[in-house]
Amino acid sequence: MATPIRTDALVIGAGPVGLFAVFQLGLLGVHAHVVDSLPHAGGQPAELYPDKPIYDIPGLPVSTGAALTQALLQQTHPFSPQLHLQDEVAEITALPDGRWSVGTAKGRYFDCATVFIAAGVGAFVPKTLALLGIEAFVGRQLHYHRPAEMLSAGETLLVMGDGDAALQAVIDAAQAGVVVTLMHRRDAFKAASHRVSELQALRDRGGVRFLAAQATGFEAVDGGLQALRVALPDGHEEHLPVNQIWALTGLSPKLGAIAHWGLAMERKQLVVNTEDFQTELQGIFAVGDINTYPGKKKLLVCGFHEATLAAYGAMAIISPGQNVPLQYTTTSTQLHARLGVSHSGSSV
Ligand SMILES: Cc1cc2nc3c(=O)[nH]c(=O)nc-3n(C[C@H](O)[C@H](O)[C@H](O)COP(=O)(O)OP(=O)(O)OC[C@H]3O[C@@H](n4cnc5c(N)ncnc54)[C@H](O)[C@@H]3O)c2cc1C
Repeated sequence: MATPIRTDALVIGAGPVGLFAVFQLGLLGVHAHVVDSLPHAGGQPAELYPDKPIYDIPGLPVSTGAALTQALLQQTHPFSPQLHLQDEVAEITALPDGRWSVGTAKGRYFDCATVFIAAGVGAFVPKTLALLGIEAFVGRQLHYHRPAEMLSAGETLLVMGDGDAALQAVIDAAQAGVVVTLMHRRDAFKAASHRVSELQALRDRGGVRFLAAQATGFEAVDGGLQALRVALPDGHEEHLPVNQIWALTGLSPKLGAIAHWGLAMERKQLVVNTEDFQTELQGIFAVGDINTYPGKKKLLVCGFHEATLAAYGAMAIISPGQNVPLQYTTTSTQLHARLGVSHSGSSV
């Protein structure tokens, strides 16, 4: 077992509510570690509606999923949270001293005073290709999340999917001179209209090939993926030579292990009290879409409120006996110091 990372607070989920919990904990002087199954922070807003307008965040007449994520990350910046991305929390067990041991799929262990479950509708996991043996290429030639590095000009890329992530990947690859094919079951897309138009323009210029087809098999030589076999609507089969496949066909939320942690649940949500959003287990809080209580609404603003009260509640466990006064960010010099801002509000 790896040496556990000892922390006052572990946040499960880097969605908007998990990020705001990090901020509120930071204001109270608590550093947090965060685990998320996705390769980036932001949860549903970043993954499901990055370009769509959000109109009901107080004081922000309009934002988008992507802009909100950036703003929340910026807000947590002074507190340097440690993000452990592309990892999934798998188990949680009580330690004899009242702390919690939390283990992840990648073999990390955390020894935590408090745990904030901000897991939304579950861990977002990619829909995978149902081709026996193809998993051997994951992370090398087959990617279920867009990799940071683009292929070189002239290399061949097959992108699968019909959403924003797939279409943006195709557009960027074509601009980089990559020989790119987009494959989807039907010639119809659910991405934002500006991306669909951009894709159409590229197709019209011959910069991108579109294929309505489904994968049926693959060919590999000496451990290297050479081609994907696909079935066309007319029943013919085609061999598509590929350097890489980016299968961006969507993510599905998986509640997974959380359902087996022995916490009280109602309709797949964790039952909490509304004083500090703690579950019935001391030190385990649940905030955001994952929790339920009388009157619960799955809204960002409700999750932000829950994260605030949970952070205050956690202080009774992290620093027992310590008086935690309410302080205003406008006037508290202690909070200014924690935020790294001068009295006038500028960064120091
Ligand atoms: C299309 C759409 C539009 C919306 N529009 C609005 C709106 O206009 N206004 C509004 O207030 N709300 C809106 N919502 C709802 C809002 O997005 C959610 O209330 C909010 O995202 C909840 O945040 P969260 O942090 O609780 O969960 P999420 O955003 O779901 O984030 C949870 C994170 O936890 C991670 N995770 C889960 N389990 C694990 C695990 N075991 N290990 C590691 N990581 C894990 C997930 O990968 C995910 O990143 C909308 C939702 C959708 C789908």
